[in-house]
Amino acid sequence: MIDLHAHSTASDGSLSPEALIEYAIGREISVLALTDHDCIDGIAPAMAFAKSKPITLIPGVELSVMWGNTPLHIIGLGIDTTNSALIRLLKAQFEARTIRAKAIAEKLHEQGVLDAYEKANAIAQNGLITRPHFAQILINEGKCKDMKQAFKKYLKRGRLAYVRMEWVSMEEGIRSLNDAGGKVILAHPLRYGLTNTKLRCLLGDFKAQGGMALEVISGLSTDSEIAHLSALCREFDLRASQGSDFHGPTMTPHVMGRLKSLPPTCRFVLDAHEGEN
Ligand code: AMP
Ligand code: MN
Ligand code: MN
Ligand code: MN
Repeated sequence: MIDLHAHSTASDGSLSPEALIEYAIGREISVLALTDHDCIDGIAPAMAFAKSKPITLIPGVELSVMWGNTPLHIIGLGIDTTNSALIRLLKAQFEARTIRAKAIAEKLHEQGVLDAYEKANAIAQNGLITRPHFAQILINEGKCKDMKQAFKKYLKRGRLAYVRMEWVSMEEGIRSLNDAGGKVILAHPLRYGLTNTKLRCLLGDFKAQGGMALEVISGLSTDSEIAHLSALCREFDLRASQGSDFHGPTMTPHVMGRLKSLPPTCRFVLDAHEGEN
Protein backbone atom coordinates (compact mmCIF):
# COMPACT_ATOMS: atom_id res chain seq x y z
CA MET A 1 0.00 0.00 0.00
CA ILE A 2 1.08 3.54 -0.79
CA ASP A 3 0.71 6.24 1.89
CA LEU A 4 1.62 9.78 0.86
CA HIS A 5 0.87 11.71 4.07
CA ALA A 6 2.44 11.03 7.47
CA HIS A 7 3.96 12.94 10.40
CA SER A 8 6.92 12.32 12.71
CA THR A 9 8.27 14.01 15.84
CA ALA A 10 9.80 16.63 13.51
CA SER A 11 6.31 18.19 13.70
CA ASP A 12 3.28 16.88 15.61
CA GLY A 13 3.68 13.12 15.15
CA SER A 14 4.45 10.87 18.10
CA LEU A 15 6.98 8.56 16.37
CA SER A 16 10.53 9.49 15.42
CA PRO A 17 11.26 9.33 11.67
CA GLU A 18 12.96 5.95 12.18
CA ALA A 19 10.15 4.53 14.31
CA LEU A 20 7.60 5.80 11.77
CA ILE A 21 9.35 3.82 9.03
CA GLU A 22 9.46 0.65 11.14
CA TYR A 23 5.80 1.11 11.94
CA ALA A 24 4.89 1.66 8.26
CA ILE A 25 6.74 -1.52 7.24
CA GLY A 26 4.74 -3.38 9.90
CA ARG A 27 1.54 -2.00 8.36
CA GLU A 28 2.66 -3.27 4.91
CA ILE A 29 3.32 0.15 3.43
CA SER A 30 5.67 -0.10 0.43
CA VAL A 31 5.88 3.63 -0.38
CA LEU A 32 5.68 6.25 2.35
CA ALA A 33 5.89 10.04 2.14
CA LEU A 34 7.10 11.86 5.24
CA THR A 35 5.16 15.15 5.23
CA ASP A 36 5.77 17.03 8.47
CA HIS A 37 4.13 20.42 8.98
CA ASP A 38 6.40 23.20 7.67
CA CYS A 39 9.48 21.15 8.47
CA ILE A 40 11.94 18.90 6.63
CA ASP A 41 14.21 18.06 9.57
CA GLY A 42 12.92 14.48 9.68
CA ILE A 43 13.76 13.76 6.05
CA ALA A 44 17.52 13.16 6.32
CA PRO A 45 17.30 10.65 9.20
CA ALA A 46 14.28 8.99 7.56
CA MET A 47 16.07 8.65 4.20
CA ALA A 48 19.18 7.24 5.86
CA PHE A 49 17.15 4.74 7.88
CA ALA A 50 14.91 3.67 4.96
CA LYS A 51 17.89 2.89 2.71
CA SER A 52 18.38 -0.61 4.05
CA LYS A 53 14.65 -1.33 4.56
CA PRO A 54 11.94 -2.79 2.30
CA ILE A 55 10.23 0.57 1.80
CA THR A 56 10.55 3.57 -0.50
CA LEU A 57 10.57 6.89 1.31
CA ILE A 58 9.44 10.05 -0.52
CA PRO A 59 10.67 13.35 0.93
CA GLY A 60 7.74 15.68 1.49
CA VAL A 61 6.37 18.55 3.51
CA GLU A 62 2.89 19.73 4.49
CA LEU A 63 2.97 23.49 4.15
CA SER A 64 0.54 25.76 6.04
CA VAL A 65 -0.69 28.45 3.63
CA MET A 66 -3.34 31.16 3.39
CA TRP A 67 -5.92 31.25 0.63
CA GLY A 68 -7.28 34.70 1.34
CA ASN A 69 -8.36 34.45 4.96
CA THR A 70 -8.61 30.68 4.92
CA PRO A 71 -5.71 28.61 6.28
CA LEU A 72 -5.06 25.49 4.21
CA HIS A 73 -2.51 22.69 3.92
CA ILE A 74 -0.66 21.87 0.74
CA ILE A 75 1.75 18.96 0.39
CA GLY A 76 4.92 18.97 -1.67
CA LEU A 77 6.07 15.49 -2.66
CA GLY A 78 9.51 14.60 -3.93
CA ILE A 79 10.95 17.98 -2.95
CA ASP A 80 14.64 18.81 -3.10
CA THR A 81 15.35 19.41 0.59
CA THR A 82 18.50 21.38 -0.26
CA ASN A 83 16.53 24.04 -2.19
CA SER A 84 17.58 27.27 -0.53
CA ALA A 85 14.38 29.26 -1.24
CA LEU A 86 12.31 26.46 0.31
CA ILE A 87 14.62 26.32 3.33
CA ARG A 88 14.21 30.11 3.73
CA LEU A 89 10.43 29.80 3.53
CA LEU A 90 10.37 27.04 6.15
CA LYS A 91 12.57 29.15 8.42
CA ALA A 92 10.10 32.04 8.15
CA GLN A 93 7.19 29.68 8.95
CA PHE A 94 9.17 28.37 11.95
CA GLU A 95 9.71 31.90 13.23
CA ALA A 96 6.02 32.72 12.78
CA ARG A 97 5.19 29.59 14.77
CA THR A 98 7.49 30.68 17.58
CA ILE A 99 5.76 34.07 17.79
CA ARG A 100 2.36 32.36 17.75
CA ALA A 101 3.43 29.85 20.40
CA LYS A 102 4.41 32.69 22.75
CA ALA A 103 1.04 34.38 22.14
CA ILE A 104 -0.86 31.11 22.76
CA ALA A 105 1.12 30.65 25.98
CA GLU A 106 0.08 34.13 27.14
CA LYS A 107 -3.56 33.28 26.54
CA LEU A 108 -3.16 29.99 28.38
CA HIS A 109 -1.54 31.86 31.27
CA GLU A 110 -4.81 33.79 31.62
CA GLN A 111 -6.52 30.40 31.84
CA GLY A 112 -4.25 29.30 34.67
CA VAL A 113 -1.74 27.28 32.63
CA LEU A 114 1.73 28.47 33.59
CA ASP A 115 4.90 28.46 31.45
CA ALA A 116 3.09 26.89 28.49
CA TYR A 117 5.72 28.13 26.01
CA GLU A 118 8.53 26.43 27.92
CA LYS A 119 6.44 23.28 28.35
CA ALA A 120 5.56 23.21 24.63
CA ASN A 121 9.24 23.59 23.77
CA ALA A 122 10.07 20.69 26.05
CA ILE A 123 7.42 18.45 24.45
CA ALA A 124 8.50 19.52 20.95
CA GLN A 125 12.13 18.93 21.99
CA ASN A 126 12.98 22.46 20.86
CA GLY A 127 11.66 21.64 17.36
CA LEU A 128 8.71 23.20 15.66
CA ILE A 129 5.77 23.95 17.99
CA THR A 130 2.26 23.02 16.86
CA ARG A 131 -1.15 23.32 18.49
CA PRO A 132 -1.22 19.59 19.37
CA HIS A 133 1.77 20.27 21.65
CA PHE A 134 -0.35 22.78 23.58
CA ALA A 135 -3.21 20.26 23.57
CA GLN A 136 -0.82 17.80 25.22
CA ILE A 137 -0.06 20.32 27.99
CA LEU A 138 -3.79 20.86 28.59
CA ILE A 139 -4.26 17.09 28.84
CA ASN A 140 -1.22 16.66 31.12
CA GLU A 141 -2.55 19.34 33.47
CA GLY A 142 -6.00 17.82 33.63
CA LYS A 143 -7.68 20.76 31.89
CA CYS A 144 -8.93 18.57 29.02
CA LYS A 145 -9.54 14.87 28.63
CA ASP A 146 -8.25 14.54 25.06
CA MET A 147 -6.98 16.39 21.95
CA LYS A 148 -10.44 16.87 20.59
CA GLN A 149 -11.62 18.63 23.72
CA ALA A 150 -8.45 20.73 23.90
CA PHE A 151 -9.10 22.04 20.39
CA LYS A 152 -12.78 22.54 21.01
CA LYS A 153 -12.32 24.51 24.21
CA TYR A 154 -8.99 26.29 23.68
CA LEU A 155 -7.18 25.91 20.37
CA LYS A 156 -9.69 26.06 17.52
CA ARG A 157 -10.48 29.30 15.71
CA GLY A 158 -12.42 31.61 18.02
CA ARG A 159 -11.69 29.61 21.21
CA LEU A 160 -9.97 30.75 24.41
CA ALA A 161 -6.33 30.41 23.34
CA TYR A 162 -6.65 30.78 19.58
CA VAL A 163 -4.12 33.01 17.86
CA ARG A 164 -4.54 33.88 14.21
CA MET A 165 -1.62 33.04 11.94
CA GLU A 166 -0.55 34.67 8.73
CA TRP A 167 1.07 31.81 6.86
CA VAL A 168 2.64 32.23 3.43
CA SER A 169 0.07 32.66 0.63
CA MET A 170 -1.07 29.57 -1.24
CA GLU A 171 0.32 31.05 -4.45
CA GLU A 172 3.79 31.53 -2.98
CA GLY A 173 3.65 28.13 -1.28
CA ILE A 174 2.77 26.35 -4.51
CA ARG A 175 5.50 28.24 -6.36
CA SER A 176 8.14 27.37 -3.77
CA LEU A 177 7.23 23.68 -3.75
CA ASN A 178 7.19 23.55 -7.56
CA ASP A 179 10.54 25.36 -7.71
CA ALA A 180 11.92 22.72 -5.33
CA GLY A 181 10.82 20.03 -7.82
CA GLY A 182 7.80 18.90 -5.80
CA LYS A 183 4.41 17.69 -6.93
CA VAL A 184 1.86 19.89 -5.15
CA ILE A 185 -1.20 18.33 -3.55
CA LEU A 186 -4.10 20.01 -1.78
CA ALA A 187 -4.35 18.08 1.51
CA HIS A 188 -7.73 16.87 2.85
CA PRO A 189 -9.86 19.28 0.74
CA LEU A 190 -13.06 18.49 2.67
CA ARG A 191 -11.63 19.42 6.08
CA TYR A 192 -11.72 23.20 5.64
CA GLY A 193 -15.45 23.65 6.18
CA LEU A 194 -15.87 25.23 2.72
CA THR A 195 -19.17 25.24 0.83
CA ASN A 196 -19.04 23.42 -2.49
CA THR A 197 -19.07 26.79 -4.30
CA LYS A 198 -16.08 28.02 -2.27
CA LEU A 199 -14.26 24.72 -2.68
CA ARG A 200 -14.65 24.94 -6.47
CA CYS A 201 -13.36 28.50 -6.36
CA LEU A 202 -10.35 27.26 -4.36
CA LEU A 203 -9.68 24.44 -6.83
CA GLY A 204 -9.75 26.92 -9.74
CA ASP A 205 -7.07 29.03 -7.99
CA PHE A 206 -5.09 25.96 -6.89
CA LYS A 207 -4.91 24.63 -10.46
CA ALA A 208 -4.15 28.06 -11.97
CA GLN A 209 -1.33 28.60 -9.46
CA GLY A 210 0.36 25.31 -10.34
CA GLY A 211 -1.22 22.73 -8.04
CA MET A 212 -1.15 19.17 -9.38
CA ALA A 213 -3.40 16.91 -7.30
CA LEU A 214 -6.10 16.55 -4.67
CA GLU A 215 -5.84 14.25 -1.71
CA VAL A 216 -8.85 12.20 -2.75
CA ILE A 217 -8.38 9.70 0.06
CA SER A 218 -7.43 11.08 3.48
CA GLY A 219 -7.44 8.69 6.39
CA LEU A 220 -10.77 6.91 6.64
CA SER A 221 -12.56 8.80 3.85
CA THR A 222 -16.09 7.62 3.03
CA ASP A 223 -17.09 6.35 -0.42
CA SER A 224 -19.15 9.47 -1.05
CA GLU A 225 -16.23 11.78 -0.11
CA ILE A 226 -13.99 9.82 -2.49
CA ALA A 227 -16.57 10.03 -5.28
CA HIS A 228 -17.02 13.77 -4.69
CA LEU A 229 -13.29 14.50 -4.81
CA SER A 230 -12.57 12.26 -7.79
CA ALA A 231 -15.30 14.08 -9.74
CA LEU A 232 -13.63 17.39 -8.81
CA CYS A 233 -10.27 16.00 -10.01
CA ARG A 234 -11.82 15.32 -13.40
CA GLU A 235 -13.52 18.70 -13.55
CA PHE A 236 -10.38 20.66 -12.66
CA ASP A 237 -7.92 18.37 -14.46
CA LEU A 238 -6.12 17.43 -11.27
CA ARG A 239 -4.44 14.21 -10.30
CA ALA A 240 -5.29 12.20 -7.19
CA SER A 241 -3.32 11.35 -4.06
CA GLN A 242 -3.95 9.19 -1.01
CA GLY A 243 -2.59 9.35 2.51
CA SER A 244 -3.43 8.44 6.07
CA ASP A 245 -2.37 11.75 7.70
CA PHE A 246 -0.87 9.47 10.33
CA HIS A 247 0.27 11.19 13.55
CA GLY A 248 0.92 8.16 15.77
CA PRO A 249 -0.42 4.72 16.71
CA THR A 250 -2.92 6.08 19.25
CA MET A 251 -4.19 8.95 17.13
CA THR A 252 -7.39 7.72 15.49
CA PRO A 253 -8.97 8.03 12.94
CA HIS A 254 -5.73 8.51 11.03
CA VAL A 255 -4.61 4.90 11.20
CA MET A 256 -2.01 3.57 8.80
CA GLY A 257 -2.48 0.76 6.29
CA ARG A 258 -6.24 0.99 5.98
CA LEU A 259 -6.71 3.24 2.94
CA LYS A 260 -9.41 2.50 0.41
CA SER A 261 -8.52 2.30 -3.30
CA LEU A 262 -8.62 5.28 -5.62
CA PRO A 263 -11.37 5.04 -8.26
CA PRO A 264 -9.99 3.82 -11.62
CA THR A 265 -10.95 7.14 -13.24
CA CYS A 266 -8.36 8.95 -11.12
CA ARG A 267 -4.89 9.68 -12.44
CA PHE A 268 -2.52 8.89 -9.61
CA VAL A 269 -0.15 11.67 -8.60
CA LEU A 270 2.93 9.43 -8.81
CA ASP A 271 2.21 8.04 -12.28
CA ALA A 272 4.43 9.34 -15.06
CA HIS A 273 3.09 12.20 -17.13
CA GLU A 274 2.24 11.66 -20.79
CA GLY A 275 5.36 12.13 -22.82
CA GLU A 276 7.55 11.11 -19.90
CA ASN A 277 9.26 7.78 -19.37
P1 AMP B 1 -0.93 23.92 13.71
O1 AMP B 1 -0.28 23.64 12.39
O2 AMP B 1 0.06 24.20 14.78
O3 AMP B 1 -1.99 24.96 13.60
O4 AMP B 1 -1.63 22.56 14.15
C1 AMP B 1 -2.48 21.90 13.25
C2 AMP B 1 -2.61 20.44 13.63
O5 AMP B 1 -3.47 20.33 14.75
C3 AMP B 1 -3.27 19.60 12.55
O6 AMP B 1 -2.33 19.14 11.64
C4 AMP B 1 -3.83 18.46 13.35
O7 AMP B 1 -2.82 17.50 13.59
C5 AMP B 1 -4.20 19.11 14.66
N1 AMP B 1 -5.62 19.49 14.75
C6 AMP B 1 -6.23 20.52 14.13
N2 AMP B 1 -7.54 20.59 14.49
C7 AMP B 1 -7.75 19.57 15.35
C8 AMP B 1 -8.89 19.10 16.09
N3 AMP B 1 -10.08 19.73 16.00
N4 AMP B 1 -8.73 18.03 16.89
C9 AMP B 1 -7.53 17.41 16.99
N5 AMP B 1 -6.42 17.80 16.33
C10 AMP B 1 -6.52 18.87 15.52
MN1 MN C 1 -0.95 17.64 12.35
MN1 MN D 1 -3.24 18.85 7.43
MN1 MN E 1 -1.10 16.17 8.02
